[in-house]
Parts: sequence; structure tokens; C-alpha cells
Amino acid sequence: MPIDFAKSDPQGVLRFTVLRQWNFDGHEVVLVTLENIKTDYECKSDEVMCECDFADNRSLDAHKCPSKQRARDEVAAESRAKYGGQWKTMDLKDAILDVYGRVRKHKEYLGEYHPGTLYVHDVARILDRDLGELHPACRQLFVEEKLDFNGMILCDYESRFRFPQEIQQLFRYLVEEPLGWPNGEAGDCMLATIEAAINEHTDYKHGKQAFWEHNYPNIEPHLLIMFGTIWLETALVRLEADPKAKAEYLKWAKPSMTVKDLRQLARRFAQLGRDPKKSP
Ligand SMILES: [Zn+2]
Repeated sequence: MPIDFAKSDPQGVLRFTVLRQWNFDGHEVVLVTLENIKTDYECKSDEVMCECDFADNRSLDAHKCPSKQRARDEVAAESRAKYGGQWKTMDLKDAILDVYGRVRKHKEYLGEYHPGTLYVHDVARILDRDLGELHPACRQLFVEEKLDFNGMILCDYESRFRFPQEIQQLFRYLVEEPLGWPNGEAGDCMLATIEAAINEHTDYKHGKQAFWEHNYPNIEPHLLIMFGTIWLETALVRLEADPKAKAEYLKWAKPSMTVKDLRQLARRFAQLGRDPKKSP
């Protein structure tokens, strides 16, 4: 059954420009530009759509249609056939930047789930690499201030004041935990507000200015160990003295679990102190 665009837009608000069309065993799929022609500002986006999106009883799961995925996979395979040779000769970080540039700057569709939006797992799929390999490379691109991440979505790096990541994690957790961790973007919104205020109203325009080179974007391990140990002892002193705090701790955790975690960590720390030449 061919897609009938007019049926889904009786008011004639949208312009549908089909960029590409597939037919998988009689099921039609399109890569289409949707444009609202009744606004004064530009309002358009590319989408992968199929018959399921135009059915009378459109299901909420229409985006999961396997034919759509087949179209995306086909485009991803074509992208690899076209650029895969170059990507293989590149450092993984450069290959990620290349995919990002093509999709975000040159508006090429490479087979990502939502055209124009690149999640880390989209890049892994397009490059045919393991997510496990992608994460450290993405992390490095952030440290080098070449890419930023909105959750798992790749975006341009904007130079501004930021807290070290461990402080950001703590803030996010403190904000979201009572709401049911993780809770959407409550923590990110709070962080964005505070960091923007510092950036705008103080002389701190970069995390390094406030926390020094060695503690940005990550706090140095020896400081984390120092604070971690102090915090553990602080928590223990309060648990020993405050029955209410102890009851709250016992509601969420077991001392035996904490002891087990600490023992595991202790073993690994002990390993760090060994001379690798002497140990087997
Ligand atoms: Zn479908």
C-alpha cells in the first residue's frame, strides 16, 4: 500500500519531500524532509517514515517497524562502502569526528536512527565498531574539547565554565535521587543553570581556571582517594552516632555488601602497590 502523505495532513501544513524510497516486500519506507510551510521561521527535519506512520490506527510502536530499520541498516552499509576505507585508516577519534561532520555539518544521512541526530550507538553502528571501543574514544574527544555530549547525543563543544565530572555526577545524583534516580534531565538542568550563572557573572570561564589543569575535567585520583576515604569515615562516625541515619542506611544497603565492596577495592589497591617485575 503506497504512503498517502495528504491523508495525514488534511490542513496542508506540511510539505513532504521524498529524498529516498524503499519497498521491502510491499512495505513502503521513505527518507523524507518534513517542512512546516505555515510558519515564518524555518521548521523542517528529515525523518525515516513508513506505511505504519500513516495507518488509520497508527501504533505507538510505529517507530520500531522492522522495515524502517532495514532501510537505516541499508544506508549504514552504503555509508561504510563509501567511506569505510577512509575510516579504517583513521584513528577511531578522527573517524567519529568524520561521521559527526558529515551528519551535523554537511547534513548527510549515514543511517542513524533519527536523521541528523547522532547517538553514540548510532556512530558505533555506522562505523561497525563495538560500543565498548566508542565510549573511551568519545570520552577522549570531550577531554580534548572537540566534542560535547548531551546525554548520549553528540554535539558541538562549547568552551565555558564546567565543574569537574565527579562534582557534576554528585550534583546530578543529589538532585535526582529523591525523584527516583535517574530522573530525566533534572540534574542536568540544575547543573546547566549553575554553570551558566558562574560563566556569565564571574571571571571563571573554564573549569581549569577554578580547579587547575590537573583537576579538570576529572579530579586527580589521589584526591578522589583522599576524599573518598574521608567521606567513608565521616559516614561511619555518623552511622555509629545517629540511629536515624543508621536506619536509613540499613534501609538501602547491607553492611556486609559495603564490606564486600571495600574488600574488593582493598585487594585492587594492594595490587597497585606491587612491583610488576617481582609478582608473577
Ligand atoms: Zn512500517
